[in-house]
Amino acid sequence: FTLLGGLLLSLLVCALIYFSLLSWHSAEREILRGLKNKEFFVEYQPVIDAKTLKITGLEALLRWQHPIEGRIPPEIFIGYAETQGLIVELTQHMMSMVATDAHQLQHAFPEKSKLSINISPHHMNRVSFHDDVLNFIEALPENAFQVIFEITERGMIDTEGALREFNWLRFHNIEIAIDDFGTGHSALIYLEKFTLDYLKIDRGFVMSIDQKTLIAPVLDTVLKLTEELKLKTVAEGVETELQSQYLRNHGVTYLQGYLYSKPLGISVLMNFIRDFNEKDATYQI
Ligand code: C2E
Ligand code: MG
Ligand code: MG
Ligand code: MG
Repeated sequence: FTLLGGLLLSLLVCALIYFSLLSWHSAEREILRGLKNKEFFVEYQPVIDAKTLKITGLEALLRWQHPIEGRIPPEIFIGYAETQGLIVELTQHMMSMVATDAHQLQHAFPEKSKLSINISPHHMNRVSFHDDVLNFIEALPENAFQVIFEITERGMIDTEGALREFNWLRFHNIEIAIDDFGTGHSALIYLEKFTLDYLKIDRGFVMSIDQKTLIAPVLDTVLKLTEELKLKTVAEGVETELQSQYLRNHGVTYLQGYLYSKPLGISVLMNFIRDFNEKDATYQI
């Protein structure tokens, strides 16, 4: 009985290893197939000005609707694409979809608004990076958006290379945001070395506001520092009114999170932005 059990167990383990290898191996083919099949699309999460409580910007987030697996989270397929070099193809595709949407989205805003996209540090090292960026900028409607590139500090190991790319981007009038600030390694080094426009404060810090976790005092330090350095801040993952109040009282520049809106598809976004921005402002500070 135990022998049979052992046999079954090892069979099961073998099957598990086999399937994970198989899926790992075919993930590259799957992404390429998905690209061909137009399974990728973009959602946009509104970014709110902390003073006026109006939507003044959008963050583009890539989505994959797999025909069998359903929605695959970007953390999974982006991470895989980064190790396989497919991040270039994925980002080119994302940029072209965003540029197309932008021609429509510009009409939801009475004035120039902000358009953020996430850029993998792995892409910045690729030969095609400058061409990819210039093609994107040229495909956007003229003067409608201030483009922001969000770059995570995770994976940004080559500091000299990153510094050079940041300068090139800013020369082309693209603003730089450090994404998920506080989750990477040696975070504070970047503040000193780079000329940055925004720090995006990770959701973990925002959660610490009403959960009173140990890192709560770190948030206050970060906010004091950004004020000193004259860096604009975006708080990520704002879910409660309490968090919003706290962040606004402590000088955060922009708010983003489910309290205001989840990432939305282009079809509902236009009306959402208009309705949101037309709301009566009397109860707002
Ligand atoms: P991120 O850039 O930090 O994006 C914010 C993530 O937090 C998004 O998850 C968003 O849906 C989620 N979020 C926003 N507000 C809230 C909230 O109030 N509560 C909670 N629980 N979550 C909230 P998403 O779309 O799953 O994206 C995950 C990450 O994948 C992104 O983190 C970004 O690093 C990466 N990613 C997404 N699209 C792209 C892309 O086109 N290119 C690259 N390189 N990375 C991308
Ligand atoms: Mg981001
Ligand atoms: Mg982020
Ligand atoms: Mg994040």
